[in-house]
Amino acid sequence: MNLTIALVGNPNSGKTTLFNQMTGSNQKVSNLPGVTIESKEGLVKGHKGVKVVDLPGIYSLSPYSAEEVVARDYIINQKPDVIINIVDATNIERNLYLSLQLMELKTPMVIALNMMDEIRNSGVFIDIQQMKETLGIPVVPISASKNEGVHDLIHCAIETAQKRLLPKKIDFCTGPVHNAIHSISHLIENEAKAAGLPLRYSATKLVEGDDLVMETLKLEEPEKDIIQHIVDDMEFHLETDREAAMADMRYCFIEELCDRIIKKGGESKAHLRSIKIDEILTHKYLALPIFLGIMLVIFWLTFGPLGTWLSDFLGAGIDHLASITDAALSRTNINPVLHSLIIDGIFVGVGSVLSFLPLITILFFLLSVMEDSGYIPRVAFVMDKLLRRLGLSGRSIVPLLLGFGCSVPAIMAARTLPSRRDRYMTIILVPFMSCSAKIPIYAMFTAAFFKEHQALVMFALYIMGILVAVCCALLLKGTIFSGNPVPFVMELPNYRMPVLKSVWLRMWENILGFIRRAFTIIFLATIVIWLLQSFDAGFNMVESSDQSMLASIGILAVPIFAPLGFGDWRAATALITGLSAKEAVVSTFAILLDAPNATALPAMMSEIFTPLTGFVFLVFCLLYMPCVAALATIRKEMGSTWKASAVVLFQTSVAWIVAFLVYNIGKMIL
Ligand code: GDP
Ligand code: MG
Repeated sequence: MNLTIALVGNPNSGKTTLFNQMTGSNQKVSNLPGVTIESKEGLVKGHKGVKVVDLPGIYSLSPYSAEEVVARDYIINQKPDVIINIVDATNIERNLYLSLQLMELKTPMVIALNMMDEIRNSGVFIDIQQMKETLGIPVVPISASKNEGVHDLIHCAIETAQKRLLPKKIDFCTGPVHNAIHSISHLIENEAKAAGLPLRYSATKLVEGDDLVMETLKLEEPEKDIIQHIVDDMEFHLETDREAAMADMRYCFIEELCDRIIKKGGESKAHLRSIKIDEILTHKYLALPIFLGIMLVIFWLTFGPLGTWLSDFLGAGIDHLASITDAALSRTNINPVLHSLIIDGIFVGVGSVLSFLPLITILFFLLSVMEDSGYIPRVAFVMDKLLRRLGLSGRSIVPLLLGFGCSVPAIMAARTLPSRRDRYMTIILVPFMSCSAKIPIYAMFTAAFFKEHQALVMFALYIMGILVAVCCALLLKGTIFSGNPVPFVMELPNYRMPVLKSVWLRMWENILGFIRRAFTIIFLATIVIWLLQSFDAGFNMVESSDQSMLASIGILAVPIFAPLGFGDWRAATALITGLSAKEAVVSTFAILLDAPNATALPAMMSEIFTPLTGFVFLVFCLLYMPCVAALATIRKEMGSTWKASAVVLFQTSVAWIVAFLVYNIGKMIL
């Protein structure tokens, strides 16, 4: 038996929970709180050869967001044997909107009616039998988090797949929409067959005006004209536009269905509780301060004493391991070059990154709790209006805030955005939020040049990062990212007590990703930088790094930075090594200036900088391209080296221009 089950449903309907129940720990995973962008795959426990694929959470099959296109293309092209459509029973009307569209895909399908535990507690009764009959497909009530009904669901899905039971009814329409769909169906029968698209689906998509489907069908001009005519006619009769007509038709049907199957015995308890909580958390004036307060607490827990202590502790452990290894290597009298590579290169490089693991763990734990409790959609809702003016959607707020900690998880968090446009814009702006790795640079420079105004200068840098991001957002919105953020569907799920197991699983996925990165990309980068720092162009090991290849490269970069006031090869080199990790800027200065220890370093900085050029250097550090780890993440999330290169070029150009302006304006004032 070889079967593929596709799991489809709205965000927050419990897909991931169900997926975990079905597969156990038996899965290839890499998704973040919120929406799954990549499809995850796993084998169903106890059923050999049965594979389940978790598709991205979606609200409909329209072509407006990357996820929806990915999901529908997957079903049409990969032809899974059966769809499990997971429906949140506490939000049944909104969820069935997707179900009706899925049923048009001519694929065997089962509805998993989830969250039945809550329905049970709320006094609501859902007539499952009636629902099955009206929809013409199997409906299995389950509770994914309590692992109830999952067994039955799997059996039902396998049976439906093996017997290839297609949805019995797909014709839910009436009136002018009905006429339009059926006329178009007749017209495009051959084209749909040739293109391998389900006929009914093609027809409804043409009524909606879906350009992607239109293209795939390769229609002739006369046919297009007839379709346009049919649609015009429908719009004229209904006095609404085509998309609204389809939506109305679907909701009408759903309303009737729900009237028939839902017997209310009072509002659901969970829902009433949610409304109460929301009176405070999404209050007109309180919402923002509460949100800021929660973020502050999260940052404090992550980057404050607890996280720092754990990081230092892990860092010390790694250092200890390094010195043990160092001693062991010395005893074996191994080749000194290899010795230096292992100790100065790999241990220092990979170790300095790995020591951030506790921060990442705490951050993702807290975020998972926020996500699981249902608070994140509220934040997005509260921030939506403000961010919309900048061409961003409310959901962008989470990645942007995370950017103050570290760009890597922040860029990954952009996956929660529903459209590619919103996601790209957010990814481009995240690195302008000053990440915590830059704090040592700021601290060192302000100690050197701005002793009296240390806090003020730091604050100015953070604000400058935000302002530059705002300007860039407006610029991007007016140019390559014109168009609007995806409308924010205000469907606030009920608050729930976070379930430890799902919090843990979410967190674990992210931690694993981070560790994997440290041992692949960062591992390679540190080896390259170590090589450049330790050898000259003739591959002789150098005594001091100013004879190294790195220095020769630094000298090449000098003309670029001369107009900014710091045309010194050491400054250029520090910026280059800073690409491995921003903290490396400080350690590079320490090595290149031959500082006896860290405390002596600030006093020696005036060899290279004046207070003005020092500040300009900080501005450049704030804005220029992110470190390799962030870079690799951008590349992965955008899925293309070219796009990532363009982003980096854009950010570095912005950094150069702003630094240039600051330098010249500064020169005029001082
Ligand atoms: P996804 O966005 O579709 O992947 O949804 P998740 O699996 O992340 O679930 C969203 C929330 O619903 C989480 O807090 C789950 O713990 C919760 N949840 C999932 N299934 C059930 C269920 O059957 N009953 C209850 N009460 N909560 C559930
Ligand atoms: Mg999920």
